[in-house]
Amino acid sequence: MKYLFALILLLTLITSCTPTVTQTLTPSPTTITTSPSAAAAGWWRDAVFYEIFVRSFSDSDGDGIGDFNGLTRKLDYVQSLGVSALWLMPIHPSPSYHGYDVLDYYAVNPQYGTMDDFKRLLDEAHRRGLRVIIDLVLNHTSSRHPWFLDANNDPQSAYHSWYVWSDASRGRYWHPGNQGYYFGLFCNCMPDLNYNNPDVTAQMQKATRFWLDDIGVDGFRMDAVKHLIEEGDKIENTPATHTWLKGFHTFYKTGNPDVYAVGEVFDATAFIAKTYTGDQLDQVFNFELASGFIHSANGGGKSALESALRFAARDLPSGEYATFLTNHDQDRVMDVLNNDVNKARVAAALLLTSPGTPFIYYGEEIGMLGKKPDEDIRLPMQWTDDPVTAGFTDGKPWRAPAATTVSANVAVQDKDANSLLNHYRALIALRNAQPALRTGSLVLLETGNPAVYASLRSEANETLLILVNLGGKVVTDYQLGSASAALQDGTYAPETLFGSGSAGTLTVANNTFSNYKPLAKLPPYSTWVFYIKK
Ligand code: CA
Repeated sequence: MKYLFALILLLTLITSCTPTVTQTLTPSPTTITTSPSAAAAGWWRDAVFYEIFVRSFSDSDGDGIGDFNGLTRKLDYVQSLGVSALWLMPIHPSPSYHGYDVLDYYAVNPQYGTMDDFKRLLDEAHRRGLRVIIDLVLNHTSSRHPWFLDANNDPQSAYHSWYVWSDASRGRYWHPGNQGYYFGLFCNCMPDLNYNNPDVTAQMQKATRFWLDDIGVDGFRMDAVKHLIEEGDKIENTPATHTWLKGFHTFYKTGNPDVYAVGEVFDATAFIAKTYTGDQLDQVFNFELASGFIHSANGGGKSALESALRFAARDLPSGEYATFLTNHDQDRVMDVLNNDVNKARVAAALLLTSPGTPFIYYGEEIGMLGKKPDEDIRLPMQWTDDPVTAGFTDGKPWRAPAATTVSANVAVQDKDANSLLNHYRALIALRNAQPALRTGSLVLLETGNPAVYASLRSEANETLLILVNLGGKVVTDYQLGSASAALQDGTYAPETLFGSGSAGTLTVANNTFSNYKPLAKLPPYSTWVFYIKK
């Protein structure tokens, strides 16, 4: 049985890897184009999101646990970043510190405050033009949820068929209960809901409506959506899951097409993300591109980023996907980059000048460190240099802040014009000011040097030239060129919007150009954005 299961798992892995193999065999053109879809006009296309773990952001009452009122009083800071929307990790009652095992879908975690506190947070956020989405955990409940307790204790329970049962164990995801074995993909503490039962769907649609209509959130980050419905031994990306999500899309869009849902399809490539986008979810996180940003920033070469951008352009040419560096499930990007602030600046520049809707994980903008276990990638926000509280609480923090708070904190970086924090602010402000950075097409340029990344982002009336020296050495040996149509013929004098120095003249003939060196010398880890008037 065990071996059979291992074989099935192996076959599943091979099957799920097939698209990746196909992708690497696809010829890679030197120049690619992303074309924005005219129909895609959702507000999220213009947004920069900020992901917040409420428990760790700001504590208002000294119990050492972050809360809604603490977050509300920090909204001026959030607004100062230039972001336009917040994603709050689970806010429901839960036996765990992280909240991904929900006890009640119609209430808030009392450790975070009252529903009135949450409504005040929403009002204050909306007053500042900040939209708020919350984590919606559909795949499973807590094993202590009253539905599961009843289902497990009483074979006649109406909730029994809300979960997935078997008389015998069928492998590592099956856990002994009072009524046989129940399926819990992530943990015995998280029994999977049975979405083949229409009552479960109806109940979760009701919860969705409650948060949209009665409370007023702007949308959802959909946790673990690839696992909603198992089919036989296939536990992810099943046809039944896609079919369910199509119904859910119709449901949540009814009456308000502005409601936004972004899916966590863990590890999704653009190829996989495409299968969930459009008639199911508004966007899916592009893990492949996240990996491209980080590998290129870390290794100093452009190939990882360009490859991920090509796949994104091929599979989701509309640019309808969510981007990020790392999230609450991964070692923090600053840790991955070995605490090298220059590389962190490059990673931020790549994220915020690329297609897709960017998500920034709280603390990323000040270079917070954090390596697994999970608690340590979700540590208290570093507001001050106080080594005990990090300015996060007046009491004892639920978990000790990272030691780096003495040097990497909001108070010190706010005052330093050259800090990582102000680098993020400048890049976000630029993105907010330039539609081409948000929804423009993308053309990758030839640079003649693997350490130099360059691209054009264009909207109707503007073209921006992005230029990044990814590496740690001064570059003089490079030249930019476009193999395919990029610009109208003419002579241009690009204007510097980001970075220092003035660009030399650019001449375009037959809609292409070559041997263009906007600057003679590119200092290490530097980013430029030039404006090219059409
Ligand atoms: Ca508190």
